[in-house]
Amino acid sequence: MSYPLLTIDKAKIKHNTRILSNMLLQQGMRLVGVAKGTCANLSVVQAMVSGGASAIGDSRIDNLKRIREWGYKGETILLRAPGHSQCDEAVLCADTSLNSEITTVKLLGEAASKTGKMHKVILMIDLGDLREGVMMEQAPNIALEMDRTTGVHLAGIGANLACYGGVIPTSEKMGLLLQVKNEVEQRIGRPLERVSGGTSANIKLVIDGQMPSGITELRIGEGILLGTEAIMREAIPGCFNDAFMLRAEVIEVQRKPSKPIGEVGQDAFGNVPVFEDRGIRRRAIVSMGQQDIDPSALIPRSKGVEILGASSDHLICDVEDAGCSVGVGSILEFALSYSALLKASTSPFVAKEVLKNAR
Ligand SMILES: *Cc1c(COP(=O)(O)O)cnc(C)c1O
Repeated sequence: MSYPLLTIDKAKIKHNTRILSNMLLQQGMRLVGVAKGTCANLSVVQAMVSGGASAIGDSRIDNLKRIREWGYKGETILLRAPGHSQCDEAVLCADTSLNSEITTVKLLGEAASKTGKMHKVILMIDLGDLREGVMMEQAPNIALEMDRTTGVHLAGIGANLACYGGVIPTSEKMGLLLQVKNEVEQRIGRPLERVSGGTSANIKLVIDGQMPSGITELRIGEGILLGTEAIMREAIPGCFNDAFMLRAEVIEVQRKPSKPIGEVGQDAFGNVPVFEDRGIRRRAIVSMGQQDIDPSALIPRSKGVEILGASSDHLICDVEDAGCSVGVGSILEFALSYSALLKASTSPFVAKEVLKNAR
């Protein structure tokens, strides 16, 4: 067995997808399964598809390409706008993309015209989170220009909250998006078929029955993968939170002071660390680091193990309270939250194992 090892329970991911797709369907929305949290692991994509995701989204063209090559025939959605240099590739692997720039959409149209297949575009509206999207008042004019571009079909509008600015999706914010939809429809003179409402940050609204009707789809990654909504990080009723588990090996256990000895300057990442003096403690080094995980997003599953921090390749844990159960050669187990899952999935140093029918 090679460590660190990320285990993936397909059955749990399928189950979570089923719960969420049913929850959304009951409120008139379809589920777009977002694969990027696992670097589009094909077993995960498969579980999403068999659990009822009606389309697969990813922010990376390379991931969508692999999903296509694997044989997925359903709709693929490129979640991050392609660069000008990527438009030819984008139309080949994505049926739909989220966009805000007219120059990019024109290039997508030209690329699509060459393939003979219409490329669908969702115009992103910035509702205040200040990541991607056009400001609301500009939407009708930009939509009209996109609508007149040959090779593309403006399928709808979308929004993304709680990703950069941390702005919470409320029913008021979603109402604004529906208002923009009306304005766009008036300007282009036809109805839009899609309103792509947001991410796992919108799940709380759905659970609370606060999502205004008119939103047609949500793009969900974290909710499916970790079974949590993304505002309070609360568990979604009926979903598993442990579909992923990370195991790694202890390579050193020594008793050391809890405060560094000597003058303290910057650590490996330019921060000046602060330490609490807890006396002499047993410490373990686990053989993985910032390249593979986010130490603040790992949750030790063994009692008495506390994460102190990590450099590029070493995760340092206090194991004083774990007794003799932790020694050199021990395998420690960790649950992951989103940023740790993302890093573990993209690190070539982390082995992946898909558990078949585990649950
Ligand atoms: C990552 C991403 C999502 C999915 O976000 P989750 O919080 O994992 O559900 C949806 N839409 C866009 C544009 C994204 O980049």
